[in-house]
Amino acid sequence: MPTPIPSSVDALIVGAGFGGMYMLHRLRQQGLTCHVVEAGTGVGGTWYWNRYPGARCDVESMQYSYSFSPELEQDWQWSELFASQPEILRYANHVAVRLDLKRDMTFETRVTAATFDEASHRWTVRTDTGATVSARFCIMATGCLSTARQPDFPGVDSFKGQTYHTGHWPHEGVDLTGLRVGVIGTGSSAIQAIPVIAQQAAQLTVFQRTPNFSIPSRNAPMTAAYEQKWKSVYPEQRAKARISRNGVLTNPNDFSALSVSDEERTRILEERWASGGTVFMAAFNDLVTNQASNDFASEFVRQKILGMVKDPSTAALLAPKGYPIGTKRICVDTDYFLTYNRDNVKLVDVSKAPIEALTENGVRIGDTEYEFDAIVFATGFDAMTGTLTRIDIRGRDGETLANKWEAGPRTYLGLMTAGFPNLFMITGPGSPSVLSNMIVSIEQHVDWIADCIAHLVSRQLDSIEADRDAENNWVQHVNEVAFKTLYPSANSWYMGANIPGKPRVFMPYIGGVGNYRQTCDRIAAEGYTGFQLAAPAREAVAAE
Ligand code: NAP
Repeated sequence: MPTPIPSSVDALIVGAGFGGMYMLHRLRQQGLTCHVVEAGTGVGGTWYWNRYPGARCDVESMQYSYSFSPELEQDWQWSELFASQPEILRYANHVAVRLDLKRDMTFETRVTAATFDEASHRWTVRTDTGATVSARFCIMATGCLSTARQPDFPGVDSFKGQTYHTGHWPHEGVDLTGLRVGVIGTGSSAIQAIPVIAQQAAQLTVFQRTPNFSIPSRNAPMTAAYEQKWKSVYPEQRAKARISRNGVLTNPNDFSALSVSDEERTRILEERWASGGTVFMAAFNDLVTNQASNDFASEFVRQKILGMVKDPSTAALLAPKGYPIGTKRICVDTDYFLTYNRDNVKLVDVSKAPIEALTENGVRIGDTEYEFDAIVFATGFDAMTGTLTRIDIRGRDGETLANKWEAGPRTYLGLMTAGFPNLFMITGPGSPSVLSNMIVSIEQHVDWIADCIAHLVSRQLDSIEADRDAENNWVQHVNEVAFKTLYPSANSWYMGANIPGKPRVFMPYIGGVGNYRQTCDRIAAEGYTGFQLAAPAREAVAAE
């Protein structure tokens, strides 16, 4: 029986991932009454849902963890350089127990609607269990990649075998041993899952529409020496990450790929390839802004792929072409390309002849039917906006968020959207979010929101709301910065390109984690420039 939801709170938080957990902790510390509503049966957000084989973070575990508690970061021990999904979920649960978070959380409950009442300046939030809660602040900690994109192939329900989506993997696990398995998609999730599934399945067929650039992770067990090296300098390292470009310490080279000789460029790329992981993209400072520089890195990785895959036609299909490396989310793998050298693995190119339908037996393309016992949809997410616009969120004058964002998301700083007072988003569109170490960006947003609420409470103010002009300027800025890079040239989910009919807008803010933090801090220090703070208060928030 889920914990009952109080009928009235100061702050209602939607989602019990890393954002919702830390938000609850901060606001409780400030004396507010708060409650978290979560659709899953436990905490962990993305790491709760994405339990597919091989799921693993591609930010180093020493950097992908909360930094707000020195005790926590010193106590917790990661077993590998890149933590697996089960270990990250254990960490999330450890934090929840340690901070006693679950007593203010209701699980197995989905928020369906949130309506702003102009007279009381309060939100009425409704759930699929019929609960209604009144909240002064509504905080969407709903995640950027939380609405799975279920493919709508004709006949999808006629398939007699099992289907699975990587983002909704069964909690009891799936035994694919000895089965004929099809995987649709070759994004980050598939690239992690395929090598593991290939070891279990009798036959694995991968349907690829667009090949992806992937860098070997070089994951390894954590050593005591490496852990200690980090833990002895954690405060300094965390401080550096907060003002870095992506919230990850990548040892970036601050020079162009064009500024060095061919030999030196290759040497640097080889060095990055050998050390592994997304730090590859920090080999030069212009890989995502200069086509010629990017061409070198793209070709370098293409040659690596061609060198790993034995069958020349499969190798040619796997080598990405037509978009610059890094402009679709770079992938990180363990033996992904080598997996195609196995006798039981086959690649099918669906770029020109798409999957037409699912049948009783499997997948049909033209006259060919591929027969399977199980099909894995690794088809991604309605990223950044999908979860928010699926909730019936209504602000001033009954305007819905879905309607307001019809032509693409509009936010001020990715934190608030005009017309929706006291509704905050953690890592919303228009903030660095998915272009950064998510935990660094989550902590920055939670701290900013908590400080903002403290500011309102201490001044007995009713509400805060983004200004339309400030929002327009921010949306324009986000767009301008994006179009100075190569990112918009790729058909990526950053651009909404993976969802038919979704507006093509570059959604995250690419101006850099450090610069963005400075902007947010300056705006707060100036008394929340670009926001309207409503006074006088009807009632002091803390006194409710
Ligand atoms: P994704 O990157 O959006 O990949 C979806 C894949 O499905 C793409 O290859 C796409 O092809 C394909 N696809 C979709 N519809 C299709 C169709 N009708 N026919 C054939 N192929 C189809 O999704 P994802 O792999 O779940 O990853 C999403 C994001 O989650 C990542 O980019 C990353 O940010 C995050 N993630 C991170 C990690 C990590 O930390 N290691 C792991 C997993 C995911 P097209 O490219 O042609 O559209």
